[in-house]
Amino acid sequence: MESEKNYNDKLVFGQLFKKYYKQAWLEIPQDLPLREIALQPIDGDYYIRHLVFESRKQLTDYITEVHIPRHLYYSSAKYRDPGNQIMNEKGWIGSDLVFDIDANEILQCKDKVIEIRFCRKCGYIAPMESSEKKCPLCDGELTKFEHVEPECIKLAFEYLRNLVDIIENDFGFDNYKMSFSGNRGFHLVVELSSPYDAMDSESRRELVSYIVLTDAYKKVIKNMYVADRSKKNLIYPLPRMGNGGIKRRIAKSLLKKVADIKLREFLMNRLDEIESDRLMQLVKILTDNIDEILDDLSIPIDSKVTIDTTHLVRVPNSLNGKTGWKAFLIKDLTYFELSHYEVSIEGLDELFKIRIAVDLPAITIIDRAFKLRRGDIVKLEYAYASYLIFKGVAEFISIAR
Ligand SMILES: [Zn+2]
Repeated sequence: MESEKNYNDKLVFGQLFKKYYKQAWLEIPQDLPLREIALQPIDGDYYIRHLVFESRKQLTDYITEVHIPRHLYYSSAKYRDPGNQIMNEKGWIGSDLVFDIDANEILQCKDKVIEIRFCRKCGYIAPMESSEKKCPLCDGELTKFEHVEPECIKLAFEYLRNLVDIIENDFGFDNYKMSFSGNRGFHLVVELSSPYDAMDSESRRELVSYIVLTDAYKKVIKNMYVADRSKKNLIYPLPRMGNGGIKRRIAKSLLKKVADIKLREFLMNRLDEIESDRLMQLVKILTDNIDEILDDLSIPIDSKVTIDTTHLVRVPNSLNGKTGWKAFLIKDLTYFELSHYEVSIEGLDELFKIRIAVDLPAITIIDRAFKLRRGDIVKLEYAYASYLIFKGVAEFISIAR
């Protein structure tokens, strides 16, 4: 038994998004009236900026009655006059510290990023290296499809954990929020108060180089720790967890390479002294693995985002119009597993009937492997269907109950 009704994509998703925003708990800053709100409407390719709302209710009314957002943002900056259209006249007070970790920027994931350009009209797929602007067969527009395998999102989560460790232990900030971006990465917003919120881009750039560990930085560390017979003494003292800053980060990474219990205890500062031959063993592990350790310490944040004091932050728990997924707030750092329930609109258990527009390579979406061909008609739960529709590789046919 199945009842089907035809809708137009935008209308259907507009209504679904509206229904979602009527009951959603958006994670917005306490000082909402100081923030600029910006959005891209679901039915348009333009942005609406410089919005200001005095209350959560005002915001909800706007995004459910005036413009339903495809993307919804708030400014990391606090302004005296956030609604002013001229940036210099907004009266900048200060900004939160914002981080973006994107799975497709992770070195180990470069070969797990799928990118194709294709024609929706005829299904033509442009060759990898081509610079074609239009479809050579039918002159149609070329659409770009980008996909990252879920294992890379998990890896990005590991980097998020390392980043939070630095934020808490090295910088001493404890007021922060983490969220899944709703696409392929994570956001971390540290809510800063005076005087830290007034940090300029240059100061923020220094935090970035400590987190990313630039090549120059790596070189300095390598010179400190790599055993050279002629300057053997330079290697002491060895980094331990009880040290601050970069030494603690090195010790933490080194710990992953050390099996010996006593050495581990020493690294974790649970032992004060250790036999010299054991110590030499530790020196060897450090010097043998120094490059790997330094790479492990490097966190692939998007530096532009962190340096920018006027960045627009995707509202946690809003829907991401690149996938239709919920950019949900993360409360627990111990474990992350993407599930289709977590990214879906609550209470939506209908299946979506969609038509695939292009031959796709084998991909995994969340937890399901797909091998889809142009013309295939499939019925899927919201999260899989919305992903394929919003990424431009499928068209909506109907909702099937
Ligand atoms: Zn074509």
